[in-house]
Amino acid sequence: MKRREFVKKAAVGAVAGGVLTGCGRAAVEGPAVQTRPSVRWNLASSFGPSLDVLYGACTLLSRRVSELTDGRFQIRVYAAGEVVPPLQVMDAVQQGTVDVGQSASYYFVGKNPALAFDTTIPFGLTGRQQVSWMYHGGGLELMREVFADFNMLNFPGGGTGAQMGGWFRNEIHSMQDLRGLRMRIPAMGGEVMSRMGVSVQVLSGADVFPALERGVIDAVEWVGPHDDEKLGFHRIARYYYYPGWWEPGAMLSFMVNRRAWDRLPDLYKTAFEIASAEVSQDMLASYDEKNPAALKRLLQEGTRLRAFSKDIMEEGERVTRARLEELAARDQGFEKIYTAWKQFKQDSFHWFAVAEQSFMNAAFPEV
Ligand code: CA
Repeated sequence: MKRREFVKKAAVGAVAGGVLTGCGRAAVEGPAVQTRPSVRWNLASSFGPSLDVLYGACTLLSRRVSELTDGRFQIRVYAAGEVVPPLQVMDAVQQGTVDVGQSASYYFVGKNPALAFDTTIPFGLTGRQQVSWMYHGGGLELMREVFADFNMLNFPGGGTGAQMGGWFRNEIHSMQDLRGLRMRIPAMGGEVMSRMGVSVQVLSGADVFPALERGVIDAVEWVGPHDDEKLGFHRIARYYYYPGWWEPGAMLSFMVNRRAWDRLPDLYKTAFEIASAEVSQDMLASYDEKNPAALKRLLQEGTRLRAFSKDIMEEGERVTRARLEELAARDQGFEKIYTAWKQFKQDSFHWFAVAEQSFMNAAFPEV
């Protein structure tokens, strides 16, 4: 595409956020500039700076993209609520209000339940397996088909690893104790818990702590020790349950507006891919380093670790499977992804049980 047409199209699409500047330099610097125009993107995150690892993924992406393009491709990061509320990030990208969003796709299962596979499924893949599925197991191609319906494409953007089961004011000994329990838990985990008798509460991040403090809810799940500690749940609810079986390997995503993407020079596309892959690796590494120290501090402050009982784990697994089968029977698109994912999971679980789990069982301490 000739530069003039390119600039014209970009200007028409400026509302979509992709703003080209520095046009005057083309004449001075010659044809090379055609492939390296100044591009500015806006990124809306579903998270705020207090979630330093999640939000930090955006600033890392922005910094690396800039460094890889000699500062010509700039991504301005907006925290949750600055341009759009956290749960409207996907709409904002689809409509072109921003060029790229950072979120967890499972917040948007109301648009398409298959978006859950982009983040995590109860009793599904671990963080490592999720990365394997996305990059080498066909997952990314399948998820891109889903995102294409929204005029978007997705890039894996890191993960939390296995999450914790959350904070409970009282001990949960068995299924019996879940009945009527008021718990903040999102996405499919919430659906499953609801079928297990829990009264599921939908609360945005800012409302969670006050609700627990005032006794409006009895339990809350968030992420893991590093993020949970900062919110101070341990000061109100003493029992910290594990594992967060509804989020065994939650993955974050960068969602990019298709038109903004198509307008990028190839070099910038590569820079974005490289930077998002780096972020992808960095987030889990960061959590894996920060969570142990945070857990140690929480335990020193009186937090009591508890494992979910066997009957809760078994019922959670059974209800999850029933829910997945139900969605697959109802929706062909979901069924296609579910079938491929299920096969990958079965093979991967077998291999991990042989090599990883047997080693962990032998070498890791008892909790
Ligand atoms: Ca969670």
